Amino acid sequence: MIQLVRGFKDILPEEATVWQYIEQIARDHFGSFGFNEIRPPVLEQAALFRRSIGEHTDIVEKEMYTFPGSKGNLLTLRPEATASVVRAYIQHKLYASDPVQKLYTIGPMFRKERPQKGRYRQFHQINAEVFGIESPYMDAHLIFMLLSFFGKLAVDPLRVHLNSLGCPECRKPYKEAITAALSERAELLCTDCVRRLDKNPLRLLDCKVPGCREEVAHTPGMVDFLCDGCQAHFETVKSGLAAMGVVFQVDPRLVRGLDYYTRTAFEIQTDELGAQSAIAGGGRYDGLVEQLGGPSMPAIGFAVGTDRLAELILSRQDPGLRRPEIFFAAMGEAAWRKSFEWACALSARGIRVEIDFSERSLKALMRRADRLRAQYVLIVGDRELSENTATLRHMASSRQIAVPADGLVKAVMVELRSESQQ
Ligand code: AMP
Repeated sequence: MIQLVRGFKDILPEEATVWQYIEQIARDHFGSFGFNEIRPPVLEQAALFRRSIGEHTDIVEKEMYTFPGSKGNLLTLRPEATASVVRAYIQHKLYASDPVQKLYTIGPMFRKERPQKGRYRQFHQINAEVFGIESPYMDAHLIFMLLSFFGKLAVDPLRVHLNSLGCPECRKPYKEAITAALSERAELLCTDCVRRLDKNPLRLLDCKVPGCREEVAHTPGMVDFLCDGCQAHFETVKSGLAAMGVVFQVDPRLVRGLDYYTRTAFEIQTDELGAQSAIAGGGRYDGLVEQLGGPSMPAIGFAVGTDRLAELILSRQDPGLRRPEIFFAAMGEAAWRKSFEWACALSARGIRVEIDFSERSLKALMRRADRLRAQYVLIVGDRELSENTATLRHMASSRQIAVPADGLVKAVMVELRSESQQ
């Protein structure tokens, strides 16, 4: 049998109900914060990610699914969404009518990482991006929106890690300080880190190799190098969060794996998922729109890892398939014909219906209705047909009523409505 590709996974129906729930809450919640949806494609020019995420990052060096396009250019399955949203913002001049755009997008990302629990090669994110607002209150506002989203999903406790990565000016002396501190101890670093020491020293800070982590722990933090403007921005983000009652910890070595971040960077972690503890992360990327050919435009965003979020929710509650509101227990050709018409009419009116066309006894049909946790069973047998009725049974209370065949759809709708109001 042909099996699933390693690192990829199926989201089975029971799990998918949790995914639908998460995505629905995200749409409603982000909508009430003024966000609109954008849906960029999953395939982009490879150059887009090389130029935005950075040449000397793990993602670009090792993890992208890249292949030649028909014109000899390289194409990449997107490893993250921000670059695509920025490309769309520039390409369609979304800034022309109003530079301020609040956008969200939901979908799969692809990275050739080593697969393990909580880390997949196709994973899914819910991304939110804000363009055109430089104010540090936006940073606090966005983090608050993210945490209140988790709150709506009853996902807590969570740890909020916060840092400032400064601007290109203050980051320069910081990079030099990191290079100076770690060059002396290069023999203790992994080969990737040695290679990146001069080219991209910030990437040493998120190396996962234990020996490198130990060395990095003794390096200075970016917050000690911030220029006045970046320092003031960071202070306002912190006081804004405190005003909203958000508890956070400053993590001076939080850099995140992408090169485009400026100033605020944050990560949301949980203790309940083992090694893969990050369920969301984000930050400011004030230079990226211009870097990719657009106008000079401040921006900030985040990405929630839906796979990990769904795992967290599923670890606390049993998944459940949607239960049918009406299960048709119809016996025989004449009953199927009538039931099929009624079932179609009810489904078309938004009622969740299940109809069984197998030749089974009433007892067997009732067992199946029980297994599906149906709210009602509509029994249609020879006796009912001869009396021109059907029997509607409320499963929880065993209450039964005879419903006339004429006007049955309407009568069933009335019964369901009165039940839902109790
Ligand atoms: P990043 O785009 O790396 O900033 O990641 C943002 C969020 O996406 C993380 O906090 C994770 O929850 C999730 N994520 C990133 N990579 C993976 C992966 N390979 N598998 C599952 N989730 C991931």
